Amino acid sequence: MKPIEEYVVSIPDFPEKGIIFRDITGILQDAEGLHLAIDLMEEKLAGLDFDVIVGPEARGFIFAMPLAYNLHKSLAAVRKKGKLPRETISVKYDLEYGTAEVEMHKDAVKPGQKVVIVDDLMATGGTLEAIVKMVEELGGEVVKIVCLMELAGLNGREKLDGYDVDAVISYP
Ligand code: 5GP
Repeated sequence: MKPIEEYVVSIPDFPEKGIIFRDITGILQDAEGLHLAIDLMEEKLAGLDFDVIVGPEARGFIFAMPLAYNLHKSLAAVRKKGKLPRETISVKYDLEYGTAEVEMHKDAVKPGQKVVIVDDLMATGGTLEAIVKMVEELGGEVVKIVCLMELAGLNGREKLDGYDVDAVISYP
């Protein structure tokens, strides 16, 4: 079996000049790659006591959902502003390219629940930091953050100091 890194397609100058986009569709389009990605992320959660997985749209959903299903946990969705139909909390933050605002339903995480946050990739860490803020505002405890990939050079971990952050693939 190929190592997981070989399924990721790296695209220079997307979506803007100077950015190397790490594309997950090469993983998803291959049955072996897809299995391997989920299995390697699941290994990061082995033996961990937690209640709920929180994942952001769109690529975070792809990985958060099978992990929640396999580990028999619930799934709480983080969406872009304006998509969720009930009462929400929201956070604005800076992206690697641009700004964004994300939301969660107010009842998505219950006070005292242990939360794992899952996303496809950590770049500057802004998205994960925004999600941590919302989870904590709702009274949840972030026990781990798992990404398939991290761009270590963008120092996302500095924003998440004190949290257990783990990635399957780390790019310099
Ligand atoms: P951050 O907030 O850490 O700067 O950016 C992370 C978010 O942007 C993630 O939700 C991720 O989906 C998206 N993102 C940024 N760069 C890339 C990339 O190179 N590849 C992929 N797949 N997602 C990216």
